[in-house]
Amino acid sequence: MKKTTGLDRTVTRNWRPATQALRGGTWRSEHGETSESLYLTSGYTYDDAATVAARFAGEQPGMTYSRLQNPTVAMLEERIALMEGAEACRTQATGMAAMTAALLCQLSAGDHIVAAKAAFGSCRWLVDSLLPRFGIEGTVIDATDNAAWEAAIRPNTKVFFYETPANPTLEIVDMAFVSALAKAHGIVTVVDNAFCSPVIQRPLDFGADVVAYSATKFMDGQGRVMAGAVCGTAEFINDKLLPFQRNTGPNLAPFNAWVVLKGLETMDLRLRQQSANALEVGRFLETRVPKIMHPGLESHPQFALAQKQMTMPGAIFSIILDGGRAQAWALLDALQLIDISNNIGDTRSLMCHPATTTHHNVGPEGRAAMGVGDGMLRLNVGLEDPADLIEDLDQALTAAGL
Ligand SMILES: *Cc1c(COP(=O)(O)O)cnc(C)c1O
Repeated sequence: MKKTTGLDRTVTRNWRPATQALRGGTWRSEHGETSESLYLTSGYTYDDAATVAARFAGEQPGMTYSRLQNPTVAMLEERIALMEGAEACRTQATGMAAMTAALLCQLSAGDHIVAAKAAFGSCRWLVDSLLPRFGIEGTVIDATDNAAWEAAIRPNTKVFFYETPANPTLEIVDMAFVSALAKAHGIVTVVDNAFCSPVIQRPLDFGADVVAYSATKFMDGQGRVMAGAVCGTAEFINDKLLPFQRNTGPNLAPFNAWVVLKGLETMDLRLRQQSANALEVGRFLETRVPKIMHPGLESHPQFALAQKQMTMPGAIFSIILDGGRAQAWALLDALQLIDISNNIGDTRSLMCHPATTTHHNVGPEGRAAMGVGDGMLRLNVGLEDPADLIEDLDQALTAAGL
């Protein structure tokens, strides 16, 4: 029998991800509400002193303080873990809080990390600027080059860290190869899966150990709240992440967790349609721009690998214009429907110039090394009718001289 109320609720764990997106982790109060409850409380009360003592001693399940547990947040964490195929998940206030927690909870002075050169600007800042301040050295490599991963390993290498596809170059990392290499050397692989979500790609299925998210992106999916998540084994989450998170407090607020729960209900549907729209728009742009990096187009240098790892190409891709910043800005400024925005994962189509926004802080040399040129534009394709998006791009390309 299905039981969704009380601390002893039974949860079915073998549904497919699209079902888990609606049902996973459901934890109803005694009122039997259909939609998840929003528990805006920082503290909890107890019927007697023995109960609170038992909870603090870990002898009885239940809440004690919302930095440690919150029912709305717990529902989201269980739902994400079920969709991801992970034993456990914990959520954070933002994607960057998730990345920081996933790395700092397991690294110590004297350790070494190997990370992908092509990455979200703040993820590069963690590796290049934050970790070295605490005696953790990093080596950044061309993550599409399998031999480069192997060559970068040192006796003290503890973590491999990468995104696939990478933001905003759309380069793909061979997850099965890199995970197997890591395992052979006792290295923990952390994958930032923001561009995909578990609907498109589940890194644990390819041998990764930890998956970290900006849930701000496709999980909320509608540009409303910031959120992050880290998934892994129960051992990693309980022994490494939880002591760090409970004592440093980068937690996700219950209201934001509730919004993301609502977002997950439609994530599968949204991503299928956005991915189909992005393919249609990409096929049009391919006929008009000198270069496009789209995991769903055969012109992508790693098309076969993308097909192997991703169930669909996703909603995000980049185009590269020959006319540098002036032409990229001319195209952006001519848009009438698509918004200029550095966000991604929204149901609205958004375009941005990474060199002057998300990757501004990486600096000109860093950008050149990771292949983010001044002529690059990144597009997040939303749920609008693709014919309208193509019409808008058509007139903007013409205005930019293409
Ligand atoms: C957006 C993003 C992040 C950071 O997430 P926030 O929720 O903005 O903190 C990290 N990695 C990638 C790949 C992203 O796209």
